[in-house]
Amino acid sequence: MSPYSHISALVQPHLAGLEPYQAGKPLEELARELGLTDAIKLASNENPLGPSPKAVAAISQHLTTLHRYPDSHAYHLTEDVSRHLGVEPRQLIFGNGSDEILDLLVRALVPPGGEVVSTTHTFLMYGLLTRAVGGVFTPVPLDGMQVDLEAVFRAVSDRTRLILLNNPNNPTGAVFYREAWESFLESLPPRVTVVLDEAYIDFVDDSRVPQGLDYLAEDRPLVGLRTFSKAYGLAGLRVGYGYGPSGLLDILHRLRMPFNVNRLAQAGARAALTDGEFLARTRELVRRGREELCRELNRLGLDTAPTQANFILIEVGRSGREVYQAMLQEGVIIRAMDAYGFPRHIRVNVGLPEENRRFLQALAKVMGLSGRT
Ligand SMILES: *Cc1c(COP(=O)(O)O)cnc(C)c1O
Repeated sequence: MSPYSHISALVQPHLAGLEPYQAGKPLEELARELGLTDAIKLASNENPLGPSPKAVAAISQHLTTLHRYPDSHAYHLTEDVSRHLGVEPRQLIFGNGSDEILDLLVRALVPPGGEVVSTTHTFLMYGLLTRAVGGVFTPVPLDGMQVDLEAVFRAVSDRTRLILLNNPNNPTGAVFYREAWESFLESLPPRVTVVLDEAYIDFVDDSRVPQGLDYLAEDRPLVGLRTFSKAYGLAGLRVGYGYGPSGLLDILHRLRMPFNVNRLAQAGARAALTDGEFLARTRELVRRGREELCRELNRLGLDTAPTQANFILIEVGRSGREVYQAMLQEGVIIRAMDAYGFPRHIRVNVGLPEENRRFLQALAKVMGLSGRT
């Protein structure tokens, strides 16, 4: 027995089995491990165009004030986003990524033994954060690749406090539509809070997809989550936000760390919000790229799930983890999907056209499909 084993026995029992979050492999790590310096990363749904140039310029201007604490209320960022979305400042809360808002919501709403209903094959943080507070995570099976809102409703019990949904869903890319969403919302008992995670909403081009903003009301327990990490190209800066009824957000503000959004993040996010040109370019790149990638993958004989996000779930018909490992050797970082319940799939995000080509070539080589392009 290790002389330190009593230390791990000191933690709360419900934390003992907590799985670590498996992030996409950073480029720097692959360089360290394999000495590859020209690797590409298409694993974390990041923006291949880089950060918004306006954000970079604004951040540089704020470097000389880093000795000062940031504005703990993110006053200007809140004002800007409030105008941008047409919501009240008190209906907004910012976080160190939207992950932080999720964490606050779970901590505020889920007692030990309380139930969080979500779906299978979704964002891993949902289950992790639930288990971290001693909650019970109830994943409802997808219908094919689709979130089945009626089944989610049927899974709600007396102990359910929170429902976590992701539209488009990561990692399937599938969406649910306004009609199903509206009957779902109307059917829920008022004690259940719904979180609509809209991390990929900027990539949607199907007009039937609901926007949580249209359902925001002071008396409705609904919180929408958005992030600057994906379409705005600021994943490394860590800014996201929630919008919802001020009565609930007021509590989340008390729970959060006072300086959770740092100075550079506040400045960068404000500037990115004004960079409509960058957002439009990003959307165009993603829409074209996902169409082209799907076409080429299908031509290689691989099945792709219909996607409204900036990534594609691909069935590889063999161990996705082995394909992932072989792709690393080719200097292409993608994501194995076993942790998401898809042992025979991989997920790739849309990159620059030359990155997409390199991914396709490497995949064809790794899977022995090169003759069929
Ligand atoms: C990327 C992502 C987020 C955003 O996370 P941040 O903490 O804002 O970087 C949230 N939800 C899902 C489902 C995501 O894939």
